[in-house]
Amino acid sequence: MAISGQRPRIALISVHGDPAIEIGKEEAGGQNVYVRNVGEALSRQGWQVDMFTRRSDADQPEIVQHTPHCRTIRLTAGPQKFIPRDELFGYLPEFVEALQQFQADSGFQYDLVHTNYWLSSWVGMTLKKLQGVKQIHTYHSLGAVKYQSISAIPMIAKTRLATEKLCLETAERIVATSPQEKDHMRSLVSTHGSIDIIPCGTDTRRFGHISRIEARRALGLEQDAKIVLYVGRFDRRKGIETLVRAVGQSQLKDQNLKLIIGGGSRPGQSDGMERERIEGIVNELGLQDITLFPGRLGVENLHLYYAAADVSVVPSHYEPFGLVAIEAMASGTPVVASDVGGLQFTVIPEITGLLAPAKDDAAFAKAIDRILADPNWRDQLGQAGRDRVEKMFSWDGVAAQLGKVYQQVLKVPTKAPAAAIA
Ligand code: UDP
Repeated sequence: MAISGQRPRIALISVHGDPAIEIGKEEAGGQNVYVRNVGEALSRQGWQVDMFTRRSDADQPEIVQHTPHCRTIRLTAGPQKFIPRDELFGYLPEFVEALQQFQADSGFQYDLVHTNYWLSSWVGMTLKKLQGVKQIHTYHSLGAVKYQSISAIPMIAKTRLATEKLCLETAERIVATSPQEKDHMRSLVSTHGSIDIIPCGTDTRRFGHISRIEARRALGLEQDAKIVLYVGRFDRRKGIETLVRAVGQSQLKDQNLKLIIGGGSRPGQSDGMERERIEGIVNELGLQDITLFPGRLGVENLHLYYAAADVSVVPSHYEPFGLVAIEAMASGTPVVASDVGGLQFTVIPEITGLLAPAKDDAAFAKAIDRILADPNWRDQLGQAGRDRVEKMFSWDGVAAQLGKVYQQVLKVPTKAPAAAIA
């Protein structure tokens, strides 16, 4: 991108998804990865990027520099400890105050803020009101969709739905990460507002450069095992139960089948409890000898697990995008995913993997077995997945598309701060 002179300074705001934190723990997942990678890629393309998040631990440094022109800035809003996202809304005014104080101290102004998740959208709308900043927003999850799939609707639901609607109608631009997410915004949130479709990305240099044989050797996994992999958070909506039950029904269970369930968890927290529940189902089905729980996967081994697997399974009940699917595809591993949301966009059935109805154990078992039974087809699906990711889902490509939207928005003269928000 040709940006001449001084770098334009933008703020990415991600109140609960700290871009500098370890991924794979409670509430740290796709949003953290997205903000961090978009920020870094934008900085390589000529932008000055400050990423604001809430400090959730007193030991965390206030500023983490990622590249010469991209850093995370942690603001104090509420107690410096982990607070579940559904309980953060009350601390947002403090977050706005802290951000304004940071601006006053540093002398930095942001003409444009890119907010992430509904909590940050409120921060963006408030800054728009106070300072007249322009706002781009990525939802990462829509309350209107989420609340269809859970029985216990949280107290905060009404506020969230109203905030999401107002943001869609007032932000300069909204980024949907898949056509399916855009359809949901239109049918469930509002027919007003300007939506661009720009997908999430993945690091094509990190994944896809080691063979299955080498990866298994590095991880101490048997070369002749049939390996089924889950990567992600322990959250009921991720559908890990469906995968475990599917493996329990597999026709290939006695042919050295291995189920690997990768992801971090903390005893006593909601992810720790979900892991215990899943372990209970594994035991109940007698799968304990073929199931591994390697814990949180990181820079040192995530790429190895993807490469070692014969099939990577994304059994979510709903997924606005689903980074794990494209990470597996980038690694040359076919994906079996739920036929929902962004997974319908990333996974092309019979070409890069297979889709199965969410929560349908039998359909997942059948799809997994089809791929495990045919190594040549597995390799073809894997190669097609890698090709698709290279063409459509690199972070540099995603950041270039976002940068174009930012430039268009910045060209429009700034209005005076808006009157009020609800
Ligand atoms: N992840 C990871 N280590 C783990 C588990 C998950 O690095 O042990 C990463 C995973 O690679 C992906 C992200 O967390 O980049 C999960 O994103 P996704 O969009 O699939 O799901 P979300 O967490 O946003 O619901």
